[in-house]
Amino acid sequence: MSLKPIYQTIKTVVYFLCVLGGLSMAPSACSQSAPKEERRSLDSPENKKNMTINHNNNPFSIVKTEAEWREQLGPEAYRVLREKGTERPFTSPFETEWEAGIYVCKGCGTELFESKTKFDAGCGWPSFYQAVDKTAVKEIVDKTHGMTRTEVVCAACGGHLGHVFNDGYGQPTGLRYCINGVSLGFKKKEE
Ligand SMILES: [Zn+2]
Repeated sequence: MSLKPIYQTIKTVVYFLCVLGGLSMAPSACSQSAPKEERRSLDSPENKKNMTINHNNNPFSIVKTEAEWREQLGPEAYRVLREKGTERPFTSPFETEWEAGIYVCKGCGTELFESKTKFDAGCGWPSFYQAVDKTAVKEIVDKTHGMTRTEVVCAACGGHLGHVFNDGYGQPTGLRYCINGVSLGFKKKEE
């Protein structure tokens, strides 16, 4: 439920009371209090809960225990896919892989990115300008580390893949899906 209409109603009522009361200082005092309340509502526990609801409720079709993921993925892929880690830049063999094929989720094998959408962003991670289709990945607002970014996860298993940025300069979509290579597998195109 949004509190915004309620705040706006309160703001309007208080403003008119101020004006009717004929207090010369009141309108500025009223207008100062409103943004403070809006800021507080953005940081409210309810708002934070909404931002992480995807993970808490586990809406993904492929669900495993942490022990199962750990055993299947090994330590580094587990750290990135399941604990939202980031691999060190320029360490993935996929960063310099240009063969034709399709990149799949290391967690569940879902096809995620086509090699023809891969480009050299020079950032140290495999980069793509779009996902294989809109339902393959899920994009989630990520406010960790003092930044607002858009996290990209596998829509089937929820595995963390990386982030998408608006700096895919010169690319058809203008987007850069900056993906951890350790989160991916590669299926070479059959001749
Ligand atoms: Zn997956």
